[in-house]
Amino acid sequence: MLTLQGLHKRYPDGFVALPSVDLQVPRGQLVALIGPSGAGKSTLIRCINRLVEPTAGSVKLGDQELSNLSRAELREARRRIAMIFQDYALVDRLTVMENVLSGRLGYVSFLDSLLRRFPPADVERAFDLLETVGLKGLHDRRADALSGGQRQRVGIARALMQQPELLLVDEPTASLDPRTARQVMQLLSDLCKERDLTAIINIHDVPLARAYTDRIVGLQAGSIVFDGAPAELTDAV
Ligand code: ADP
Ligand code: ADP
Repeated sequence: MLTLQGLHKRYPDGFVALPSVDLQVPRGQLVALIGPSGAGKSTLIRCINRLVEPTAGSVKLGDQELSNLSRAELREARRRIAMIFQDYALVDRLTVMENVLSGRLGYVSFLDSLLRRFPPADVERAFDLLETVGLKGLHDRRADALSGGQRQRVGIARALMQQPELLLVDEPTASLDPRTARQVMQLLSDLCKERDLTAIINIHDVPLARAYTDRIVGLQAGSIVFDGAPAELTDAV
């Protein structure tokens, strides 16, 4: 369960991006965060793993309060939270396998491990994950030789390599054609169900959000203006 209580973000220039957000997301739920550009979707997602520091309020993952952790504790806690990006954030000159393995360790420790050897159990798991995301046989391909959809699948496999409880997904389909976008959303939806993963997806495309998620949260000017099942969503949001 992810619990946000009174989450407040004021940027250094004084702009209040999130007045006070309350949100509870149970395990296994795939939530779409929708709303116009500037509504605070990225800010909200980044406050959860503290890529953006919340100004006030509480962020809890399970029983653990994340908002007051030390840097070292935060590093540990972040292993439970994986991010998936619009631009995939792969390392182009590394192979698919290397990119996936980097999810296990973080990028810096990963470079370190390249000089040694990866534990065989990790490599085996990375192969399994590549099969899960539909990239069987592509492990040796360089990341820059992949299509957009394939790159996003590598991004997803890398995130899963962390064995996260929570996936934070920032516009995963914005750079993809409509058919590939639907396939990626289907994959995310299947993964949440199969692995009891919680996911929050920042997504512009409302029809996609409706079709593939369990719940829609509509944000406007940093406040939740809709929270319900996709079928209940009206044109007001
Ligand atoms: P969204 O993801 O919904 O497009 P954002 O979270 O990126 O919205 O932005 C929410 C609001 O916060 C916007 O008005 C944006 O201009 C503002 N904002 C974002 N980052 C900063 C910052 N570093 N300093 C000041 N204002 C910011
Ligand atoms: P840590 O702090 O645990 O060393 P990092 O901040 O290095 O972790 O990395 C966090 C996540 O971001 C990892 O999943 C890693 O794969 C990804 N990442 C970090 N830097 C890069 C980069 N330059 N290119 C692609 N992915 C990166």
